[in-house]
Amino acid sequence: MTQHVDYLVLGLGGMGSSALYHLSKRGLNVLGIEQFGAAHDRGSSHGETRIIRKAYFEHPNYIPLLQRAYELWHDLEQTTGKTLFNQCGLMVAGPSDGAVIRGVHLAEELYGVEVESVSPADAVERFPGFRIPDGFEVTHEPEAGFLHVEQCVQTHLECAQAQGATVYLNEQTLGVKVSERSVEVKTDRQKITASSLIVTTGAWSSGCLSELQLPLEVVRKVLFWNPVREPVYNLDAGRGSFFFDMPEGEFYGLPSLEGASVKLAEHTGGETVSDPADVDRSLYENDVHRVSRFVEAVMPALDPQPMRHTVCMYTGTPDGHFIVDQHPANQRVVYGAGFSGHGFKFASVMGEILADLATTGRTALPIEFLSAQRFNQ
Ligand SMILES: Cc1cc2nc3c(=O)[nH]c(=O)nc-3n(C[C@H](O)[C@H](O)[C@H](O)COP(=O)(O)OP(=O)(O)OC[C@H]3O[C@@H](n4cnc5c(N)ncnc54)[C@H](O)[C@@H]3O)c2cc1C
Repeated sequence: MTQHVDYLVLGLGGMGSSALYHLSKRGLNVLGIEQFGAAHDRGSSHGETRIIRKAYFEHPNYIPLLQRAYELWHDLEQTTGKTLFNQCGLMVAGPSDGAVIRGVHLAEELYGVEVESVSPADAVERFPGFRIPDGFEVTHEPEAGFLHVEQCVQTHLECAQAQGATVYLNEQTLGVKVSERSVEVKTDRQKITASSLIVTTGAWSSGCLSELQLPLEVVRKVLFWNPVREPVYNLDAGRGSFFFDMPEGEFYGLPSLEGASVKLAEHTGGETVSDPADVDRSLYENDVHRVSRFVEAVMPALDPQPMRHTVCMYTGTPDGHFIVDQHPANQRVVYGAGFSGHGFKFASVMGEILADLATTGRTALPIEFLSAQRFNQ
């Protein structure tokens, strides 16, 4: 027998778990389906932590969304009594005329985001353990920090279930049929019809929404944990996250949660993944080489050899901006995809936006710049 639900969410990672939470919070009949377990490590939302910041150098249009994202993360913490956000701050270093530093200052100018300019002499004092390249400008954003990524996903899921949502884990969606009046989903266990559908399938989005031919490219990304030689990067020493706009690429990191290491990665680059289910999780020499070179140049108190790693995926768009839109054949089918390696901090607000779109067809939040239409012009 085919089951019918009012609202169906496909993919319960960062965005889907939040959409499920927001729909169930509104008292709606909602089902979520996830091909793996809760808060698993095979998509894009794992590896301990994700940086959150408001001085958004990618584009100032994201800042109103971030303001709401911050509110919603705080609400979730208050509702549950859990610590999901650590406001440890973010140091950004790069050439003054580079897109990153210019973007940080633009956020400050346009939205009054608090950004401290740190002189080279102060940088030595405030950020011991970093060798700032000559000519670099340094800023610090005190309101930035990190989110506990798996706990955020888990918390959204648990709260959604407590609010009445149904969750099917380890069930894979095999096909989605969208017509003007109906939505039919086939999984490896059953057929389900829904009045409204939210698709948040991350690296699998091109497959789940194949008829839309979204311009998405999945790339393999490696996160490293490198041992500290001196305790100059630790949270308990008051240290925070960092982002470097280097000539070789963009590198970032955070104090690790257990204290004896730093988690770090290269934001730029990565090999294309043809099948996200089959991404190579082994470590390549070149992955280590690029990050080790950055460590040797900039972080002398860190061991350049990693002690562990994990592989994750970015789902990129041609312009690096998200795609959040409605299905052209049926406005009650909405999707969020292409979060391009910087989406997690928005998961709280994306869930709210997707729930708005699925229930009323519109949202008060300014998301026009994320429409899929921009690729058809
Ligand atoms: C290494 C790394 C570092 C990052 N650092 C940051 C950062 O510091 N700050 C930041 O804001 N962002 C960061 N990001 C980006 C951010 O993590 C992602 O943009 C975000 O997690 C994407 O969420 P998602 O819901 O789209 O994907 P996911 O969380 O992967 O969720 C998609 C879900 O859909 C499920 N699914 C897919 N297909 C099916 C199917 N057919 N049936 C059922 N279920 C299905 C998947 O199993 C998965 O659980 C980083 C990403 C990576 C990889």
